Formats: sequence, structure tokens, C-alpha cells
Amino acid sequence: MGFSKKFFLPTGHLVCDCKRLAVVRVEWSDLDPSRRFHGCAKDEGGCDFKLWEDPPMCYRSRVVIPELRDRCEKLEAEIPELMLMVEFLSEKVKKIKQLRLYCCVG
Ligand SMILES: [Zn+2]
Repeated sequence: MGFSKKFFLPTGHLVCDCKRLAVVRVEWSDLDPSRRFHGCAKDEGGCDFKLWEDPPMCYRSRVVIPELRDRCEKLEAEIPELMLMVEFLSEKVKKIKQLRLYCCVG
């Protein structure tokens, strides 16, 4: 993105190509993982305005950050299944405690 596309209001605020106040976003591509930029405020159907806030990523960051990102996504994807497992096992524990109570009372 060239500087010709950026536009500043008299207040100093950055405006995107569709004349909205630009917002700071985070790029998560493999080439620019976690690199911040100013982009269109509209999530869908907005313009392609992009002005980098951070300098280019170094080689090591481009290797390590995507690996960590992928590991986080994989672990987060396991959460719903693990929550079901916890719920299932909690019910089992509750039933076992009830049985033990019944056995001891009798
Ligand atoms: Zn826009």
C-alpha cells in the first residue's frame, strides 16, 4: 500500500478509502503474523485500505509466531470436546458419590 492512498483529517485521524475512520487491526498471515496495520473499520464489504503500523517482521518472527498461532488454534479447537468430557465425568462422579452414600447408609 502506498502513501498516496492514506488520507488524514485535519484532526490527524486516518481515513480509509471509503471515508471511514481507520481502525488498528492485526494481520495474522504467515508473512506478517501479529503485525498491526490501519485498515477499514467495516468488517465485511469495506475497502482494501491498509497502512502498516509496525515495521516488517523479521525472519524468526515469521517462523515462530505462525507456529504458536497454529498451536493455539489447535488447543482452542479441543476445548468444546474437553468441556463435554468434563461434564460427562462430573455426572459419573456425582453418581458414584450417590452410590457410596447409599452403600454406607444401608
Ligand atoms: Zn474503508
